[in-house]
Amino acid sequence: MARDERSVTPQSEDFSAWYNDVVFRAELVDRGPVRGSMVIRPYGYRIWELLQADLDGRIKATGHQNAYFPLLIPQSYMQREAEHVDGFAPELFTVTRAGEKELDEPLVIRPTSEAIIGEMMAKWISSYRDLPLLLNQWANVLRWELRPRMFLRTSEFLWQEGHTAHATAADATAETMLALGFYQDLAVQTAAMATVPGEKTPSERFAGAERTFTIEAMMRDGRALQAGTSHFFGTNFAAAFGITYTGESGTAELCHTSSWGMSTRMIGALIMTHGDDKGLVLPPELAPYQVVIVPIGRGEQAETTLSAATELAATLRRAGIRTHLDDRPHVSPGFKFNDWEMRGVPIRLELGPRDLAAGTALMSRRLNYQQPDAGKVAIPLGEAAERLAAELAACQAMLARRAADFRDEHTVTVNSWPEFTAAVANGWALALLCADQACEDMIKAETTATPRCIPLDGEPEQGTCVCCGKASAYGKRVIFARAY
Ligand SMILES: [Zn+2]
Repeated sequence: MARDERSVTPQSEDFSAWYNDVVFRAELVDRGPVRGSMVIRPYGYRIWELLQADLDGRIKATGHQNAYFPLLIPQSYMQREAEHVDGFAPELFTVTRAGEKELDEPLVIRPTSEAIIGEMMAKWISSYRDLPLLLNQWANVLRWELRPRMFLRTSEFLWQEGHTAHATAADATAETMLALGFYQDLAVQTAAMATVPGEKTPSERFAGAERTFTIEAMMRDGRALQAGTSHFFGTNFAAAFGITYTGESGTAELCHTSSWGMSTRMIGALIMTHGDDKGLVLPPELAPYQVVIVPIGRGEQAETTLSAATELAATLRRAGIRTHLDDRPHVSPGFKFNDWEMRGVPIRLELGPRDLAAGTALMSRRLNYQQPDAGKVAIPLGEAAERLAAELAACQAMLARRAADFRDEHTVTVNSWPEFTAAVANGWALALLCADQACEDMIKAETTATPRCIPLDGEPEQGTCVCCGKASAYGKRVIFARAY
């Protein structure tokens, strides 16, 4: 049978083709004219706004303030922190001309803003009374991307970057962990993902950081995706940019700084955590439309059901439920149902003349985990708001549970090389690793798996490296996976 133009390649058949079908057909994005660029369409942008509003609330509730810094950065600023410039050099866009004039000093388009914000922090901080300085900016950044993938790797993306300065290493470390907590809570509570917070091994650290922390999410093909990072810089950036303060005793001291970021990549993580063969599955907290109403009927009946559907939509919206009324006259109810199913709407309601006469609407859930044949349920119109609010809460909880179950089923504790290769072929391996970079390199060459993180809640354990058999490092098992 020929596939409907709107349907997607089944996930189980070809995960990569499935992902591409979903992002374009659900109208989340389109390709920009420049290779690697992404147009975020209204349905996709609404998901970003919901993520953004949630995270912004967490950031502000803990005393951080939003600010905005310039897109163009003098090239010399980028060069002050040696590891930082080396880390970003292959991805930098550089502006050398303005109008007809060659610029005396080339300008870099921000790949991240440590350099420009470090420069301003040095200007704004003079005394211990100015600390901590807790800043965040919502912005776009550009990093040249050779192998683009919508949401996951694009040359321009949207994100927030927190940048903070503190008097002591302990304060900056506490801040680094606080920010990691924002991401973990956002991912678990709002995105219904089953992320694992942990620390990066030295080879996976951010350029210029002393310690990098991450939340790693498992996608439904068993790969890992880094969904948010938080970095402790010690005094590296403070020394490079002259961020100093006068302490209580009158001596000049270097600040300790942190930075942390979450980007539109999170939408890619959301798609690959929850989606299925039929397309997108959105957790209610991040669904642009939590409920879609489809009125059914011809002729005079159509007017009656449409007016009842309009009233129902208004009632649900008043109750705080994001509701869309699909009153397109030129497409069939069946098409509408398939369309919204593919676009991940948690609950669809049918309202036809017979339902209306019975004082009910027919509810279909996008996903019935553990109860796949639950089918359509008639709900009384008078109780619709309460019933749907409860259904949405149940759906959110069910998705979070399903993601955690999937992660646990695909995570294996391994003690030998054959176990390791089997585990990373379709999930995550928890393995002991030595501190020798050659082992990480060999593992990557043989399996394409990389160390994702050392889980914060991992049990202390010593033993032998899964690769070379020498004594293990890090005091805990490390998660290895193939990653996006
Ligand atoms: Zn080793």
